[in-house]
Amino acid sequence: MSVATEPKPSTTTSAAFFEQAQEVIPGGVNSPVRAFKSVGGTPLFIDKAHGAYMTDADGNQYVDYIGSWGPMLFGHGDEDVVSAVQRAAEDSTSFGAPTRIEIDVAQLVVDMVPSVEKVRMVNSGTEATMSAARLARGFTGRDKIIKFEGNYHGHGDFFLIAAGSGAATFGEPNSPGVTPGNAKDTLLARYNDLDHVESLVEANPDEVACIILEPLAGNMGCVLPEPGFLEGLRAICDKHDIVLIFDEVMTGFRVARGGVQERFGVTPDLTTLGKIIGGGLPVGAYGGRKEIMDFVSPTGPVYQAGTLSGNPLAMRAGFTVLKKIAETPDLYDRLETYGAALEDGMRKNMEDLGLNYYMTRVGSMGCLFFNEDRVVDFDTAQQCDLKRYGRYFHAMLEEGVYLAPSQYEAYFFSLRHGEDELERTLKANRKALERAHAPAA
Ligand SMILES: *Cc1c(COP(=O)(O)O)cnc(C)c1O
Repeated sequence: MSVATEPKPSTTTSAAFFEQAQEVIPGGVNSPVRAFKSVGGTPLFIDKAHGAYMTDADGNQYVDYIGSWGPMLFGHGDEDVVSAVQRAAEDSTSFGAPTRIEIDVAQLVVDMVPSVEKVRMVNSGTEATMSAARLARGFTGRDKIIKFEGNYHGHGDFFLIAAGSGAATFGEPNSPGVTPGNAKDTLLARYNDLDHVESLVEANPDEVACIILEPLAGNMGCVLPEPGFLEGLRAICDKHDIVLIFDEVMTGFRVARGGVQERFGVTPDLTTLGKIIGGGLPVGAYGGRKEIMDFVSPTGPVYQAGTLSGNPLAMRAGFTVLKKIAETPDLYDRLETYGAALEDGMRKNMEDLGLNYYMTRVGSMGCLFFNEDRVVDFDTAQQCDLKRYGRYFHAMLEEGVYLAPSQYEAYFFSLRHGEDELERTLKANRKALERAHAPAA
């Protein structure tokens, strides 16, 4: 007999939806990680969300730590964003011609993000990184790109590359449909390993167009750049005329107004943005030094276009969020306060239970790794106890806290997460850690 059984929240409606969805949508989802494959079980279908809470199709409420995978800096259903989108919709949802609001959004991005002098809007982070890499190739006249193992840049063919066997220099496709031709121009480096990057550059003289990275990684859990890593990449790029691209789709406006580049003080040549910049609508952007950005069509020869790029609803939402960021001077301090309390609380819970897992956090994004050792790259991230994470994840869900359904994702919280949510989360965390370490029934 188990003790103190509380009723599990019923999720039968979600389960029924998932059955139906699988009939007409591959895997029942429109983006794979939503399917709960890596933690087991079936995904929750979400009905609505307000502030820090999401409500599923069965009416259960959860404190949300995904925030739509990043965009919801001000919480769900933010009144200002919602009313801006409603007002914009009344004037038509798209024109396919330039609008004033695009200038305003671009100006805010230029004002906030240190590396950005000019910026082009697209519709997703994937589009932003694909376009930025094409631009870097066009600008330098070189073909190869260096990316890092465990960094995610969306699903563009030449980013879906796994490490080649042994000490192979070239990557291999890690998805069917990606051709060896795509893979051959992508060189894969170890995160936080400058020597490895240097050796790749030296083995491919005058061939590397760009180095692209998540300057604070959020797609293998949350992994920090080691001191000197970003500076070292900047120096390598300067020495070899390589374009340095910070993929700040996740970190832009999240860890500081100007992203990692502001917070860590290293300026790339190009920056890709997404997530927060659209306030929950589909937006991406890439920007950087004028002379590079002017290489884009119609001023330059590098082609890139989009029927719905700079869409008025998306721009209204983005403008509203960026303006709120600009006008909330204590925003990042308040997020830091919550984050520090959350981290302290989780650490205390672990101490009480005799656990010592590695945690990372920068402002309002972080990760609890089910690994006692430091996580600094993809190899160390892969040493996490994924089964344990799965049990922890489901226990958290039962306690009313919605985490990412994968160990390899960061948690995010919003300005709407306050005292109540903190208390609820820490209680849940303690119970879930206990349950994740109880002998299996
Ligand atoms: C989410 C993400 C992307 C992809 O953005 P989409 O809008 O999902 O295409 C690219 N890079 C990073 C760092 C991301 O976190």
